[in-house]
Amino acid sequence: MKITRRGLLKITGFSIVAMTALPRMALAARNTLRGLRTGIQPGNKTRLVIETANRPSYSLSYPENQLVVTLSNTGANTTVKPKLATDALVSKISQSQVGDKLQIVADLKKPISEISKSSILLLEPNGDNDYRLVLDFVAGAPSATYTTSAATQTTAITAARKYIVVVDAGHGGKDPGCIGRGGTREKDIVLSVAKKLKSKLDSNGFKTYLTRSNDTYLKLAERASIAEKRKADLFISLHANANPSRKMKGFSIYTLSEKASDEEARKLAEAENAADKIGVEGFTEFEENIRIALSSLQQHAVAEMSEEYANGCAKSFKRASIEQQPGPDVRHAPFAVLRSTIPGALLEIGHLSNSAEEKLLKSDKHQNKIVDAIVKSVKNYNFEV
Ligand SMILES: [Zn+2]
Repeated sequence: MKITRRGLLKITGFSIVAMTALPRMALAARNTLRGLRTGIQPGNKTRLVIETANRPSYSLSYPENQLVVTLSNTGANTTVKPKLATDALVSKISQSQVGDKLQIVADLKKPISEISKSSILLLEPNGDNDYRLVLDFVAGAPSATYTTSAATQTTAITAARKYIVVVDAGHGGKDPGCIGRGGTREKDIVLSVAKKLKSKLDSNGFKTYLTRSNDTYLKLAERASIAEKRKADLFISLHANANPSRKMKGFSIYTLSEKASDEEARKLAEAENAADKIGVEGFTEFEENIRIALSSLQQHAVAEMSEEYANGCAKSFKRASIEQQPGPDVRHAPFAVLRSTIPGALLEIGHLSNSAEEKLLKSDKHQNKIVDAIVKSVKNYNFEV
């Protein structure tokens, strides 16, 4: 059937009218359950995987000896037979339809405590797999609130949970970072921006920690491990750039990858990683620990979430009309400070090697503009995946 442009417009117009008359939830496509399975991960962790046709939106609750995963706008699927690993903590999985929500009820052999955000992954479809919600947990003492009903518990978690952001001001102490022609030091600019960012994020309902709040030197691995210790949901490392060409200006945003996306990104990572050569010890040991802690599945998920944040952040900077360095929105390079289990990005907020931008970066007005753009990007980031 041939649909003319005019005909298509007419059909679209009609659909919109028809849809506005429907309840709100009907606007989103109904999700379908595709698979349920458990497995055992290193460290005797039980892994529960819930596979769905569309990106799931979920909440968790912990009634006695159960883990309940509630999927919004999802229908039960009786053709899905759970595959259960014998050594896992889950003895049985059942489905129960509650209105438009589907509850996946996992009966547990032993109680578990609340599953931390860092142990919950959402993976995009790849190969033969659909969307996968992946939950890792071990046996452990439940908190007193766990006996409350599923509904109450869900509300309690939502109300109590503040997303944790760790903001890292690059360099510091004996490491000035790059220095502008007018003598402006990277370590001072990024610390000033980091402090402003912390106060604005906190006032927007986030719990923000700084890796450094004064002029001190920290190794790259220490910065990453602060994010780990704080169980951060997001890690933002702030830097300012220098380029051999004094004309070069603008911000650029990076995520971690083993291979640099371009020669410039590779050189930049080398320059930023060189901060550690100022200290005595390397970060090989820390890196090794992280490598062991991260399964390839998790690495993939952390990379994906970082990419999502970085893209949103680039958009936010552009919307604020902050000058962008020519090139792709997000670049990749092996930055040591980004080596962790926490999704994050490294932001080069501008060039100190460019006189005009050096002046801008020193001004409170421009720093606030950058801070506002970052706050927006954090607010828009989908923490709940
Ligand atoms: Zn730097």
